[in-house]
Amino acid sequence: MRVLVVGAGPAGLSFAILMAEAGRCREITVIERNAASENPGWGVTLESDALPLLGFGDALSNEKLEGRAFWYRGERILDLPNPPGVPLVTVSRAELLRLLRQRCTKAGVQLMFDTDAAELTEADLERADLIVAADGANSSVRQRYVHAFAPAVARGRNCYAWLATPKAFHKLTILVRNEKLPLLAWGYKYSDRMSTLIVECTEQTFKRPTISQTSAEMCCAAIAETFARELDGHPVLSGTALRWQRFRAASCRRLFHRNVVLIGDAAHTTHFSNGFGTMCALDDALALHIALGDTTNITCALEAYEASQQPKIERFQATSMASMQWAEAMIDAAEDQHDGKVRELIAARWSAH
Ligand SMILES: Cc1cc2nc3c(=O)[nH]c(=O)nc-3n(C[C@H](O)[C@H](O)[C@H](O)COP(=O)(O)OP(=O)(O)OC[C@H]3O[C@@H](n4cnc5c(N)ncnc54)[C@H](O)[C@@H]3O)c2cc1C
Repeated sequence: MRVLVVGAGPAGLSFAILMAEAGRCREITVIERNAASENPGWGVTLESDALPLLGFGDALSNEKLEGRAFWYRGERILDLPNPPGVPLVTVSRAELLRLLRQRCTKAGVQLMFDTDAAELTEADLERADLIVAADGANSSVRQRYVHAFAPAVARGRNCYAWLATPKAFHKLTILVRNEKLPLLAWGYKYSDRMSTLIVECTEQTFKRPTISQTSAEMCCAAIAETFARELDGHPVLSGTALRWQRFRAASCRRLFHRNVVLIGDAAHTTHFSNGFGTMCALDDALALHIALGDTTNITCALEAYEASQQPKIERFQATSMASMQWAEAMIDAAEDQHDGKVRELIAARWSAH
């Protein structure tokens, strides 16, 4: 079997490894639009069960999150241990991708960077027996067969940027400020020196000159000044580029069309506040690998994959949407200086504790 995987993110790389290590394909190629040196993103959370599945042992360093905390206007007003049964760990996304790529190469997968799937012709695609679209939330393969996959994409209201800081947040920490610049941030440590800091704001705040009409450095400086107390004066970093986006909640009526199958964010997204996107991507890769088994009947395998994943996706997306809407309501309440509503939302999120 000749397999073409589009996208060298966690979904595409882990699927290629599983297939290549099992010796299931005559040829397996992963194409990636970005250059090999580009690694967008900082740390991601995983359930600790995922670590043995990845099989990197000590090579993939990870941090254990010690609970949850909520800061409002510079005061820590909630500080909780982890809920029972949800042990979260964090890893560097760049490190995870580096190890996945290394293992692909060792297993004989051909990795082609600087190659955009949007430029592939139908004849290029026809050379593969199976095409695995793992090209993320804005999948060009999903778009190519949009009528067959029938994606539904809804935009979140808040604008967000995926940033980082050298301040170590040992717990999954939510910060809300509304004095000068109304912002909500999610911080969690993913190495001994770095924390992810995802910053959200309303569209109204996004339009302020300090956010959208300035350089990345000035914008990060304004965020660092807003959260100076919570960050203990540490800076906010944007990496090579500062990108403000609105979350795209994507789901698809079908996960395969002929011999083309969607996995990971190309098939579905879950809001970053839930922290399960990478887990879902790895789970899709494993489910597709299992469905393919030793079969030569690709259609049957893809039907089995779709049947196993769609119900899981629905469950994850329901929790994810609730979490996104909670963040939207929180920043609205903070921006309107509605302290009572802020406390109501805190109680609603952590009532089970
Ligand atoms: C701010 C933020 C924070 C997040 N935090 C977490 C977290 O804490 N925990 C977690 O589990 N998940 C998190 N996620 C989600 C997680 O990053 C994704 O769910 C996960 O990366 C999905 O993996 P994937 O391989 O499906 O897609 P991606 O990681 O998006 O990889 C897709 C790949 O395809 C490539 N590609 C795209 N288009 C083309 C093309 N036309 N041709 C060739 N290649 C292409 C891209 O360059 C990319 O390398 C977060 C996401 C965001 C935005």
